[in-house]
Amino acid sequence: GAVIGILGGGQLGRMLAVAAARLGYETHIYDPDPAAPAFATARHGTVAPYDDAGALAAFAESCAVVTYEFENIPPEALDAIEQTASIHPNRRALTLSRDRLTEKTFLRDLGLTTAPFEAVENTATLATALEAIGTPSILKTRTLGYDGKGQIRLDTPEDVSGAVDAIAGAPAILEGFVSFTKEISVIAARSTTGAVACYDPGENVHRNGILHTTTVPAEVTNRDRTDAVLLAGQILNALDYVGVMGVELFVTKGGLIVNEIAPRVHNSGHWTQLGCAIDQFEQHIRAITGLPLGPATRHTDVVMENLLGDDVLKLPALADENAQIHLYGKSEPRPGRKMGHINRLKPTA
Ligand code: ATP
Ligand code: MG
Ligand code: MG
Repeated sequence: GAVIGILGGGQLGRMLAVAAARLGYETHIYDPDPAAPAFATARHGTVAPYDDAGALAAFAESCAVVTYEFENIPPEALDAIEQTASIHPNRRALTLSRDRLTEKTFLRDLGLTTAPFEAVENTATLATALEAIGTPSILKTRTLGYDGKGQIRLDTPEDVSGAVDAIAGAPAILEGFVSFTKEISVIAARSTTGAVACYDPGENVHRNGILHTTTVPAEVTNRDRTDAVLLAGQILNALDYVGVMGVELFVTKGGLIVNEIAPRVHNSGHWTQLGCAIDQFEQHIRAITGLPLGPATRHTDVVMENLLGDDVLKLPALADENAQIHLYGKSEPRPGRKMGHINRLKPTA
C-alpha cells in the first residue's frame, strides 16, 4: 500500500500508525530516538535528527504524504520534505502553532477571545507587560512548552524578579490568568475537500499541568457547546487545514476563551477510541490521504484517564469489563511521563 510518513515517534505517532495499518497503509516513522514507541508499529523507520536534510529527503522520497505528531518540528525540516512530498496539516498551521505569540495573535485576529497577552523578551519588557496585564498572570515560553513545562505563575508584581531566570531567559509571553469554570476541548477534522467534522467537546481535568482525565460529554450549556464547535470550524477554515486539530478552551461565565491549538491528534481526543466508530487517529489518516471523513458521532459516554509514570502498574483495569487499556510500550516509567491511558465507559446516572 501507499506509505504515510510520520514525523515523531511518540504515542501519537504510534496510534496513527495503527490506524493507518487498519486502512491498508504502511507507515514510515521519523524520530531521532531509536527507542521511540511508534517504531514498533510501523513498517519503515528512520532514526535521524530533524536537521539532517539528507535523511529527511530520503524519508520524503519514500512517502506519498507526510504528517507529524508534534508541533516542535523545525521549519527547515519541512524544506527538505516539501521538495517531494506534500505535508498535512500545512506549513502555516505548524509554524503558527509552535510559537505561542504567533498562535495567540492569529486567534485574536480571527475575532476569537484569548487571555490577554504580551510578548516578553527580558526582565524590562516583563515589567512593562505586567503593568498592562496585572496579576495573577502566567509567564510561558513561546516555544517548546508542553504539559505545563516552561511556565511560571506570577501572583504579585514582586514575582517579576527571578521569573525570567526561571524560564532561562527564553522568549516568552505573559498571559492574564483566566478564572475559568472548566476546561474543555474540541477535536476537529477537515478533509482535502473542506468538509469539517467535530467531535463532542470533552471536559479536561489537569493535575500538575498535565492532562489527567477527559470526560465526554462535557457538562456545558448548549450555547457553549455550539460556540466550541463553530469556533473550531472557523479556525480550520482560516488555515485551509487538512487533518485533525485539538482546540483547548476555557469556559467562563462570559463565554469561551481559546487557550491553545494543537495541529495534530490530541491527548484529549483519546476517548474517541472507545466512544466513536471512527476515532481521531483514523479520522486524521482519512483526512491526509484524501479520503472522506467519517462521522464524528459519539455512541457512548467515556472517561479517559492518562497513566503517568508508575500508574502504568494500574492493571486491575484489565479485569474491568468497562475499561479499554492502551499501553505505549515505553520502557522507562519516569514520573509524569505518559505511559498509557484507560478509556472507561462512563457509568450512566
Ligand atoms: P499542553 O500539554 O496542553 O500542550 P501546555 O504546556 O502547552 O499544555 P497550556 O495548555 O498553555 O500549556 O497550560 C497548561 C494548563 O495550565 C492549562 O490547561 C490550564 O489548566 C492552565 N493555564 C494555562 N494558561 C492559563 C491561563 N491564562 N489562565 C488560567 N489557567 C491557565
Ligand atoms: Mg500546548
Ligand atoms: Mg494545553
